[in-house]
Amino acid sequence: MEGAQSQSPMKILILKGDGIGPEITEATVHVLDQVQEITRTRFVYDYQPIGFEALALHGTSFPQVIIDTMRDYDGIILGPVSHFDYPPASEGGLNPSGELRKRLDLYANIRPALSRPGLPPRCGESIDLVIVRENTEGFYADRSLFQGSGEFMPTPDLAMSFRKISRLGSTRIAVSAFELAKLRRSKVTAVHKANVLRVCDGLFLECVREVATAYPDIEYEERIVDAMAALLVRDPAPFDVIVTTNMFGDILSDLASEIAGSLGLAASLNTGTDMAVAQAQHGSAPDIAGQNKANPGSLIGSAAMLLRWLSDRRGDARLAQAGDLIDRAMSHVLAVPETRTFDLGGDLGTREFAACISGAMRELASTTP
Ligand code: ATP
Repeated sequence: MEGAQSQSPMKILILKGDGIGPEITEATVHVLDQVQEITRTRFVYDYQPIGFEALALHGTSFPQVIIDTMRDYDGIILGPVSHFDYPPASEGGLNPSGELRKRLDLYANIRPALSRPGLPPRCGESIDLVIVRENTEGFYADRSLFQGSGEFMPTPDLAMSFRKISRLGSTRIAVSAFELAKLRRSKVTAVHKANVLRVCDGLFLECVREVATAYPDIEYEERIVDAMAALLVRDPAPFDVIVTTNMFGDILSDLASEIAGSLGLAASLNTGTDMAVAQAQHGSAPDIAGQNKANPGSLIGSAAMLLRWLSDRRGDARLAQAGDLIDRAMSHVLAVPETRTFDLGGDLGTREFAACISGAMRELASTTP
């Protein structure tokens, strides 16, 4: 892994977030610092406060400066946020995750669930699938209307929510899924609830079926979301790429990641046509915040996904090499109980786990021709 450095540094915006966010972003930056030395890639970081830190400093959890500058970066690393605990939007409580997805049109949330050698899944013999989750519409109150919230209360005893499903949103997420399946085991499963939500999920399925006709070499099947949850627990091995709407994808991906080992390993990338945001699948885990207990594997793995995405865009193979090295090191470290974090039954702290990943990267790089 020697030779000239890649030409221009990748500019990365780091948003630490709430709860365990600061700890796992620090661990992720540590790993990025090490991988850039080994692979001779280059990263420069800027930091902006979000969440409770930004509320205290600027009166909003998602400051305007981020909106003004976010497109100047090659990629963004977003720590988890406790947006459920923020004050209302009228008092500055904006969900940074939703704001980034909407404003950058990050319509595809790519969520892999992968079992690793030596770390058997919680059910079945192996899991290696990717959930491709629509990210900009569905049952998300902050995404369904042009103006106002998709949730409202006509009377104190009646609450209602809109669910938005569009032809554009459904078609483009289906294309993302089929393109991904071409690079994997050539199978797509569309997950829906069209037996009840005949109109909304009917439109979603119509769009996915139409996209499927353009990919005759990809096996295509459909599953109802409740049955899908049971099938994943029964045996996740047959599934390759799962495409689904926003909230079903959010729920099923937590299930799939926990089956793979732990939510603490659940990586994800939010992608649009020209921007990507690395973000762990889980929330801010306030129950373990500030204790050096969180597994940073989720965000480290998300950063590796960002590097591979940047590699494709920049045509710079070193970035993919860097992403692959992080993943190989993660599998290496997770293979034995002694180097696991507490969520996986181990004793390692957040910082110590990141240090082990760095050590494994050096070892692997020195033995790779
Ligand atoms: P939020 O309110 O931000 O959604 P939450 O605790 O309700 O937080 P998650 O953060 O997704 O939801 O956490 C669910 C469970 O998984 C918690 O018990 C948490 O401690 C655990 N967990 C989440 N992320 C990690 C991690 N990186 N390492 C270890 N455990 C984690």
